[in-house]
Amino acid sequence: ILSAEAYRRRHEITVTGDEVPPPLTSFEDTGFPSEILREVHNAGFSAPTPIQAQSWPIALQSRDIVAIAKTGSGKTLGYLIPGFMHLRRCRNDAQLGPTVLVLSPTRELATQIQDEAVKFGKSSRISCTCLYGGAPKGPQLKELDRGADIVVATPGRLNDILEMRRISLSQVSYLVLDEADRMLDMGFEPQIRKIVKEVPARRQTLMYTATWPKEVRKIAADLLVNPVQVNIGNVDE
Ligand code: ADP
Ligand code: MG
Repeated sequence: ILSAEAYRRRHEITVTGDEVPPPLTSFEDTGFPSEILREVHNAGFSAPTPIQAQSWPIALQSRDIVAIAKTGSGKTLGYLIPGFMHLRRCRNDAQLGPTVLVLSPTRELATQIQDEAVKFGKSSRISCTCLYGGAPKGPQLKELDRGADIVVATPGRLNDILEMRRISLSQVSYLVLDEADRMLDMGFEPQIRKIVKEVPARRQTLMYTATWPKEVRKIAADLLVNPVQVNIGNVDE
């Protein structure tokens, strides 16, 4: 068994923040309920990825996180499983609106996140709806009306649906900004800021980004409260 320091060194993890908990280097250490552990074993995963190992215990403490890691590092389950745990603690009536909101830059990524949420959340009876542009609103609105614990959305489409007053974000208490740098590159900053204004300030916010330029630092400083920063590998500015 590696110490926290040795594990971080081996996987090029650096953390910044107060009393950062040690990484959870095996699934058994996570304390996740058996139905979630069954899903990860069924998927053939043998251990958490470094970003999961380090960000899970922080997210489970309900703290804000900025995680900087390149693609393919397992970030999706890094935020989804703590989101499932959050839902187990405080699930609202899905008819009132989602409890978990994930913003993602593209339709393709948003549907991948939804697929992962459905696959790993099924046994916990978690419902998930996806909202993205370039497709008719009708079917998305219809699905939304059935209620969803988790909404995964691109900022443009979610903002349109907010303006139509067909969704309420008043129940959201776990907000994820995935691929934040890409969303900003695509010009979504105004939409993101409008959306976040509709989310209660009393929430947990997690931001994931592959790079850490000053625009991303600025929005992180505005939207997150005393976040723990987790870097995996070298960070491009
Ligand atoms: P990222 O968002 O960082 O680009 P993803 O979350 O899309 O990465 O994960 C990349 C791939 O790794 C996915 O196919 C995912 O199912 C898989 N994966 C996630 N966690 C693990 C794990 N602990 N062990 C093995 N594979 C994993
Ligand atoms: Mg991803």
